[in-house]
Amino acid sequence: MTPYRITGPAQIGFSGGRSSGFMLYHILEEHGGQLPSDVHVTFQNTGKERPETLDFIRECQRHWGVPITWLEFDGVYGQGLSWKVVNYENASRDGQPFDLMLRYYADYRREEKGEPPILPNPVNRMCTDRMKIKASTWYMRDELGLDSWDAIIGIRADEPKRYHRMMAANQKGSNRWDNVTPMYHAGVLKADVNSFWARQLFDLGIDSDLGNCDLCFLKSPEKILRAIVENPECARWWIEAEERSGQVFRKDRPNYRALAWMADQIGRQMPLELDFSDEEDLIDCMCGD
Ligand code: SF4
Repeated sequence: MTPYRITGPAQIGFSGGRSSGFMLYHILEEHGGQLPSDVHVTFQNTGKERPETLDFIRECQRHWGVPITWLEFDGVYGQGLSWKVVNYENASRDGQPFDLMLRYYADYRREEKGEPPILPNPVNRMCTDRMKIKASTWYMRDELGLDSWDAIIGIRADEPKRYHRMMAANQKGSNRWDNVTPMYHAGVLKADVNSFWARQLFDLGIDSDLGNCDLCFLKSPEKILRAIVENPECARWWIEAEERSGQVFRKDRPNYRALAWMADQIGRQMPLELDFSDEEDLIDCMCGD
């Protein structure tokens, strides 16, 4: 039996990246092109993904004939946490789920604690938790009525730290699900994923570094600057989120307004003294590729 044979009930987390797409393809192949009825694929949309990511997910649905359930946060403080099922056509492209999540917790903190708003940051991944993990939990538990399931995650063999964190979470046993990582067990490396996509009829169409939320604070400053140089407009949402809340996503690097300024200088080919050499991506968990 290959690692891609999945026993349900299970939820396959599709981030809209090449690795999780690779995993989905091989799981489908292992099951003769059709998933067992108790194996569900979900994509949790934050509204901050690049349009190419949403197009890629739709292409996977079309080319492989696999149903993918698109989920979004839509909670309003006072009415409880909530999520909804959307689709390619009506999925947010303007950050609305992310904005709703930030507003929910700003209202909660003001009303119940008398405290100012906070933004997600490397030690408080409220965005991953509320928009991705809790979204899929809501779907599996409340919509499908399941008590426990396997969460199938696209962690590669060259991502051992992520793998061990997932296994540590399984050991703790505090979730309704167990994390399962078929690509890790199959020994799949990033190069394998890239060579797979080079042979397909369609592809993500952007550098994998641009996947997930466009300027996610867990990405390295170089990647963020590169993304802003390519599309200066994408900095606006992040700048507004920081300035509206009076907070920053990270205290250990320049804020997004400063990053946008640096990107502007780079775009004008102005010499800049930048040294972010110690900073690596922290992307992890459900926000992986
Ligand atoms: S990609 Fe980054 S900003 Fe988006 S949900 Fe994940 S951790 Fe949060």
